[in-house]
Amino acid sequence: MQKKETQKYWNPILETLPPKKIKELQFKKFKRIVEWAYANSKLYRRLYDDAGFKPEDLKRWEDIYKVPIVQKEDYRKAQAKEPWPYGDTLCVPLDDVTEYHQTSGTTGQPVYQPDTWQDWEWWSEMWAYILWAQGFRKSDRVFIPFGYNVTMASWAGHYASEKVGCEVVPGGILNTEERLLKIKELKASAIMASPSYVIKMAETCKKQLKMDPSELNIQKILCAGEPGASVPSTKKRMEEEWNTKVYDNVMATEVGGWAYECTSQPGGLHVNEAFFLVELVDIDTGDPIEELHIPGKIIITAFDRYAQPCIRFDTKDISMWGKPCECGRTYRILKGGVHGRVDHITKIKGVSFNPLSVEEVVRNTPELADEYFLEVKEEGAAEVLILKVEKRPDVSIDTETLKHNLARQLRLKTNLNFRIEFLEYGTLPRPEVKIQRFIDLRTNKGKR
Ligand SMILES: [Zn+2]
Repeated sequence: MQKKETQKYWNPILETLPPKKIKELQFKKFKRIVEWAYANSKLYRRLYDDAGFKPEDLKRWEDIYKVPIVQKEDYRKAQAKEPWPYGDTLCVPLDDVTEYHQTSGTTGQPVYQPDTWQDWEWWSEMWAYILWAQGFRKSDRVFIPFGYNVTMASWAGHYASEKVGCEVVPGGILNTEERLLKIKELKASAIMASPSYVIKMAETCKKQLKMDPSELNIQKILCAGEPGASVPSTKKRMEEEWNTKVYDNVMATEVGGWAYECTSQPGGLHVNEAFFLVELVDIDTGDPIEELHIPGKIIITAFDRYAQPCIRFDTKDISMWGKPCECGRTYRILKGGVHGRVDHITKIKGVSFNPLSVEEVVRNTPELADEYFLEVKEEGAAEVLILKVEKRPDVSIDTETLKHNLARQLRLKTNLNFRIEFLEYGTLPRPEVKIQRFIDLRTNKGKR
């Protein structure tokens, strides 16, 4: 059935279910996927048998916490077996797999991701919620500037855009300048990209094309792949440069597109709770966190994915629950989106440090260019935290004053002193996809 263009929600029933009803639905779906995985996946059967857990132990909500958590490493080990390349993770005959993807491999050996055609339709349906909530409609011409590859995001965004009825322009083969010219030529109305690339495109537009990005008249930008669109100062920079709304989303290859910002921009992301169970647990104890504004680690279950199920998957991402959104969706809000990763949080001079907190300060300093790089190392017995930044070419402030102001803001935000180094404008890499902006060169890596 054709959706009405004026309809507020992609699924008016599911997106506005009362929380009690959502929980009932989630428990039913959780039980179903656990039973499926236990019956069909050697990986999950082994994991559950080793822990003495059986699917019939799931009698009430609290029993969910008895289900063993699965790690990316478990997938890697299970995939070393037959049938290649999915091994013991595969729950369907190999011939039923129609889609191959893999994780980007930034944290080690990639995880291979099989999907059946049913799983793949689930991907586009789940992404359709995201696009609809961000105002994507039939009238949109969506430009996707990345080369489609073995990774998931562009493919999922492409098929979901088609499902919603948008016209899609795959701009992968072009370079950044050519992509901008294509956006201009075709009068594209929307872009999907990583925050790093949205920033790079704006810079290229001004530098190479001598054009203000706002002249391209883009009406919305969907960001994913990095937390940038939920970092207030990064979001503000992108929205001002392009004179448009920028919306954040989170997805993972093993999980799905599980959380999205809506046009109300509530300072956080809705969890798609009819498709996913998102739990926050204490980083040290693993105890569930239901209260608002307490940071915890995100554990996710995808209810409807069958070829390679994802049940209580440890994402290692951090977030916190926030207040309900005014848009009318009852799906809970993760305040501030994803706040970084557990394995990136370290101790420097005894102080807990999240590298992402520096991004907020750098991008909130108008005299600085967009990119930065952080390094921590030992100099004798001392630990030194170095921030490398670039001054914008068109600002007149003297470097010493800027350095002083920046050091003060960083101290306020992190309780740490930084050594600030200014590099020549244009020196730091301008990436297309996520890159590591923090390197820990200490021999003990903060474990003291
Ligand atoms: Zn909302």
